[in-house]
Amino acid sequence: MTGLADIFTFIFYTLTPIIRLVINISHVSPDQYYSNDYYSNLTQFFGCGPGSMTKKILIRGCTLLTEAAAPLRNDHFVTIEGPLVSSLGSMAQCPGTDDYLVIDAHSNLVMPGLVNGHNHSAMTLFRGFADDLSLHSWLHDHIFPAEAAHVNPEMVYWSAKLAAAEMISSGTTCVADGYFYSNHAAQAFSDAGVRAVVGHGIVDFSVPSVPDPSKNIETVESFIDHWQGRSPLVTPAVFAHSPYTCSPATLVEAKRLADRKGVRFFIHLAESEEEQQQIIDPRGSSPTNHLEALGLLDRNCTCIHTIWLDNEDIATLAARRVGIVTCPQSNAKLASGIAPVTALLDQGATVGLGTDGCASNNSLDLFREMDMLAKLQKLSNKDATAMSAKEVLNCATDSGARAVGLDSIGSITPGMAADLILLDIHRSHLVPFYSQDTLVYGATGSDVDSVIIDGRLVMHDKKILTFEVDEVIEKMKILAETVARAA
Ligand SMILES: [Zn+2]
Repeated sequence: MTGLADIFTFIFYTLTPIIRLVINISHVSPDQYYSNDYYSNLTQFFGCGPGSMTKKILIRGCTLLTEAAAPLRNDHFVTIEGPLVSSLGSMAQCPGTDDYLVIDAHSNLVMPGLVNGHNHSAMTLFRGFADDLSLHSWLHDHIFPAEAAHVNPEMVYWSAKLAAAEMISSGTTCVADGYFYSNHAAQAFSDAGVRAVVGHGIVDFSVPSVPDPSKNIETVESFIDHWQGRSPLVTPAVFAHSPYTCSPATLVEAKRLADRKGVRFFIHLAESEEEQQQIIDPRGSSPTNHLEALGLLDRNCTCIHTIWLDNEDIATLAARRVGIVTCPQSNAKLASGIAPVTALLDQGATVGLGTDGCASNNSLDLFREMDMLAKLQKLSNKDATAMSAKEVLNCATDSGARAVGLDSIGSITPGMAADLILLDIHRSHLVPFYSQDTLVYGATGSDVDSVIIDGRLVMHDKKILTFEVDEVIEKMKILAETVARAA
């Protein structure tokens, strides 16, 4: 018998998920996102059967780029189960849609998510704060004083979350970050749903998070202990700032800590011409030799910038199998120089691509960065064939992941982590789309429609689903007013 209560129940269970989806899709919190209700609603929205509570994802009808140099495959599908890519193939072999959250991707290119190999995410607060200055003046007259005045746990959390929003929106699914109050940056990345290798900063002078530099190692060790194994997205690391801000003893202790804990060791190296005179230990004839003499260069080390290298330095870095991360826009803006990337690649080095912090770039869009990397290498080599677009794409994906110590991301392969992005390639500036070279020379981050990280739909149709971006922007406006007032 059908009574009023049954009719009410029918309407409630039929319409409520749809109404709630319409409301929630613009106001969904992380807790809501993970809830079965929310996912069930999304599942229904995309056409799966009612009651389907699975988190499997099916991307249908896409143009697929599995890795940087692979051929484009038209009319393909990709399935994702849990955090991993589970299968891919032509649409002729596409599985049925039952149990899947289905994404129709007929106008999309699906490619590996980009890896930002070097960032100081909390520095989004200082975007545009000190432009058009030399590296020395920028750092010592502006950035270090501003950091001393404004860096605190709240600032790091919200600034890193703003960076996460910008990175997700422009197709970055993984970032290697280095800063202070790293617990708060790691929490921001975890909350945002972005993969991150988070290095805790070490310098030999007092900073807000570690007023007494003699406490550096124990502070970083407790940070590592807190995050190791805590989140599938966050990998803790050690970030010794540079050979000129850390003594030889500090560098050796920091590297020992990284090795003992089994985490990655990051360091800025040979960023400026002056660095050669600034390093504290005179044993090394170059910053690279300095680190080599201290025994720091090995497979567990990532060197960032590596601009001022001679042939011996290049051979040393390649032989030691360190990861290299180049940051062409930051280096160009600060007139630091152009890293010898093609020479490093010729010697077999593993090279990644980073934006550096927002105060020296000032964008976190890796598509812009790829374009700059290719063109600066051609210019510095006086050779238009130098640094192909596919080599650049590799630096921003597979090679970039390995340069920061990750081997489970960087390509779309069954069994690899499902970190991938969907770009709208039916836009006027991307038509025709003959090859992935157009990604380097024509695309921008704003072409990214949807983002999946660790098997989770983090952005769909340009809407970030994991947190409230408007809330972050409002918090940042308040923090920026404090910075502007003090300037
Ligand atoms: Zn940096």
